[in-house]
Amino acid sequence: MRAAVVERFGSLVNVEERAVPQPGPGQVLVRLETCGLCHTDIHAMNGDWPVKPALPLVPGHEGVGIVEQLGDGVTGRTVGQRVAMPWLGRACGDCRYCVDGRENLCEKQDNNGYGVDGAYAEYMIADARFAVPVPDGVTAVDAAPLTFAGVTTYAAVKNARVVPGETVAVFGVGGLGHLAVQYARLVGARVIAVDVTEEKLRMAAELGADHVVDARSTDPVEAIRRLGGADAAIVLAVAPTVFRQAFDALNRGGRLVLVSLPADGELTIPIFDTVLKGISVIGSIVGTRQDLADVFALHALGRTRVITETRDLADVNHCVGEVLAGRVPARLVFAYRTADPASRETPVTAHV
Ligand code: ZN
Repeated sequence: MRAAVVERFGSLVNVEERAVPQPGPGQVLVRLETCGLCHTDIHAMNGDWPVKPALPLVPGHEGVGIVEQLGDGVTGRTVGQRVAMPWLGRACGDCRYCVDGRENLCEKQDNNGYGVDGAYAEYMIADARFAVPVPDGVTAVDAAPLTFAGVTTYAAVKNARVVPGETVAVFGVGGLGHLAVQYARLVGARVIAVDVTEEKLRMAAELGADHVVDARSTDPVEAIRRLGGADAAIVLAVAPTVFRQAFDALNRGGRLVLVSLPADGELTIPIFDTVLKGISVIGSIVGTRQDLADVFALHALGRTRVITETRDLADVNHCVGEVLAGRVPARLVFAYRTADPASRETPVTAHV
């Protein structure tokens, strides 16, 4: 199988041939159809964050594919079923967080494409319980961004505790933001989208943002205040200035929801204003399997749109450049030749 492998931090990714892996007990082998390219993958390639992945690593936490083989003891998944492999590749199932419905906070979790090999490959191994079924009516291409960008922003909107009629400001409308705008609308909020790219702001407006603010030409704090202020601000951009802008744009009782992870960043906010205004600062990390199931169900109902462009895995390094240059409207998705069995160049049956 082809796989894109990070051998050294900060260097180009190698696309190479590897043996198809074998599923162990409780695991499934998935023939991948698609995988989205997330900025998180670029952080993994560069070893940007304090906790670094072990190398060599196959990135990718927006994998979608077809279950091809079941490991011993797997009962909840069937061969031929379409599943998604999100960032949360496995959680322990027994700790206080797993038991009370916050498995995304489990301290013994494995993360696909970071702690364990992910979906920048034609096949991957997944823990069967954490390979989330993709319902009929959701294509493999649409399912890929929903698997991380979708579930992460869906959970952020939930964590923001938005009620109908409130105003939500979304800072950064790329892969995550274009979905955040839609989830904020779905819960009845008035939505203000903030970005520095005209094309992305146009996309946000098309997807239902009530107001857009170009932070290059306008002070977003002033612009949002003129519109009545924000009751929740969801930060999806990584520029250091954005976090403080989001805080300053909040009304009394406002919620600052932090999602994006700059390589290294600290937030300085005034305690006086935070206390007097009753502001909440909330960290929001991905979502649970049920959140992802809800995201897929909403998409199958036609409530969300996913904006993608497909690419070949062989072009992974070029694609990284495209993302870093901000030339990608929302999400790049790798579509694999193994996606359609009829189009396989060589039979890939040796492992069966
Ligand atoms: Zn746990």
